[in-house]
Amino acid sequence: MAVDYHVHVAAHGEYHYSEEWLNLYLQNARQRGIQAIGLAEHEEYRDRADQALIERLRRPDLYVARGLEIDFIPGREETIKEMLDQYPLDFVIGSVHYIDGWPFDHPDYRQQFASADIDQVYSQYFALVDKLVGCGLFDIVGHLDLIKIWGHRPKLKNSLQYALPVLHSIKTAGMIIEINSAGIRKPVGEVYPAWKIIEEMFRLGLPVTMGSDAHNPDQVAEDFAEITRSLWDIGYRKVVAFRGRKPYLLPLII
Ligand SMILES: [Zn+2]
Ligand SMILES: [Zn+2]
Repeated sequence: MAVDYHVHVAAHGEYHYSEEWLNLYLQNARQRGIQAIGLAEHEEYRDRADQALIERLRRPDLYVARGLEIDFIPGREETIKEMLDQYPLDFVIGSVHYIDGWPFDHPDYRQQFASADIDQVYSQYFALVDKLVGCGLFDIVGHLDLIKIWGHRPKLKNSLQYALPVLHSIKTAGMIIEINSAGIRKPVGEVYPAWKIIEEMFRLGLPVTMGSDAHNPDQVAEDFAEITRSLWDIGYRKVVAFRGRKPYLLPLII
């Protein structure tokens, strides 16, 4: 284990940046062998991130990186650019949470899957992820196959076939894919992206980072020991961290 670059301290707006609250995240990160933790607030809570506090709590054994998780919606590129210029960032995660205005990963809107053509939905989702990659604004692709969150599977092609063109775009763009453990605690019950996609990523030489998508301190580095072992078995020996939006490699420690 080395990095957890997807952590929400403000969660979905329930929490504020106090020294006490942020320290709970950092203590758990240290205990769980994390060397660099990346705070990636959802863009709507970006003003909650207390930059002075983050700098003050940074220690030589635990780098606290400043990031954001931004919703990619086509047409928002200029707004996103402005957001990225507001303060210095170490990394930016781009995520697709909406298909044509449908917040498909939100429990209140899950029902829309019941009447949807799942292959069509997969196709639309991965086309959006491909646009996200192509826009060149982000460092990390967030939860690459989030569309599976509720356990819906395509029929005409498998998930890897839907994801494959995007993997090639990511390689061309030089972006980093996160191995996101949050899927394990969601109905789908597996990591984002699926292991068969991660195996293909390794074959293509795509580097990875790791993220828990923690929305409370207990979830920091959740399930990382198992994930790290599986990444090692596939062949990965390094993970990527970021400073000042520049990637650097750390050894994957099992
Ligand atoms: Zn997300
Ligand atoms: Zn997140």
